[in-house]
Amino acid sequence: MKPAPNIARLVLDRLAELGLPSTLENYSRYFREITGASPQAAPPSETSSPVGDSEGPFSSHVFGLSVVEAARKIVDTVSQTADDLAKNIGDPNREIKPSPEILARAQEHKQILALLGSVIATANAMHRTVEQLIQARQALDQLRVELNANQALLHQDPLTGILNRRGMDDLLAREAARSRRVSGALAVAMIDLDHFKQINDSHGHSAGDRTLIHFVEVAKSMLRETDVLVRYGGEEFLVILPETDAASAERVVERFKQAIAQTPLILEGKQISFTFSAGIAQLRGGENSHGLVLRADQALYEAKQAGRDCIIIAGP
Ligand code: GH3
Ligand code: MG
Ligand code: MG
Repeated sequence: MKPAPNIARLVLDRLAELGLPSTLENYSRYFREITGASPQAAPPSETSSPVGDSEGPFSSHVFGLSVVEAARKIVDTVSQTADDLAKNIGDPNREIKPSPEILARAQEHKQILALLGSVIATANAMHRTVEQLIQARQALDQLRVELNANQALLHQDPLTGILNRRGMDDLLAREAARSRRVSGALAVAMIDLDHFKQINDSHGHSAGDRTLIHFVEVAKSMLRETDVLVRYGGEEFLVILPETDAASAERVVERFKQAIAQTPLILEGKQISFTFSAGIAQLRGGENSHGLVLRADQALYEAKQAGRDCIIIAGP
């Protein structure tokens, strides 16, 4: 997963450094200087960082705010340009409005030329302002693309690329509401890798990271399209299983457990095997998504207490 480009922030920082106002011309010029392209042509993934960016969600978060700040500045510029346009249309209009009468009365060649000169100057000023508005609109479109990309990043775990806890809240609340509406079952499984700290201690933190990625890959290959895997915390994951009751969820998780046992991760010739514990809960009538997750977490705690490498279903 790649963080989105921070072009807007770079451009604005550069303008601030040079003490230049963040006008559209300046924005466009330094956008070109930094990216080699005009604002509307800059591809969104240009300055992306590689997988596993150590700043991860924090840099995305900061960038999300900077895009908002950049958007605010461009909106200010658009609004200023719109004011200028209104002024351009309004002020010279006072001169141009009586033009037909002046023209009718104009006897001299010189008078007509002066009149035409003033009309052309007005048209040019309006044209320039409209061009500025078009540029501002293009810069805004670009920012909208960046903002959408950042919004998605804020909900994504940078290590594994799956949804993070922040992204899960809305989704789970929607699934719970849908389950109530259609009277369908909804189950969740809270999964925690067993003795994960030992993997870090024995093989190193980077091997621990690779183990988490491996876990997610195996999980994805086992789950249905409608199931959603969330990185809930460090080595803790939540699986959302729509249209699934607790007994079916247990079968899904049991199959996944076997797949993990049968496909250990091999790193530099060394095999990294691990197990996990899981707590499953099915949505009750009158329960919200928070209550559901809480019961799955409680069942997971019981699975750990029961000796790990097992699945416990929360009582109905
Ligand atoms: P238990 O069976 O009780 O769950 O034991 P555990 O060792 O899995 O649990 P514990 O909470 O003691 O340790 C979790 C470890 O997971 C500690 C933490 O450093 C590690 N961890 C959390 N997030 C990451 C990560 O992104 N990468 C790596 N490599 N390790 C992580
Ligand atoms: Mg653990
Ligand atoms: Mg844990």
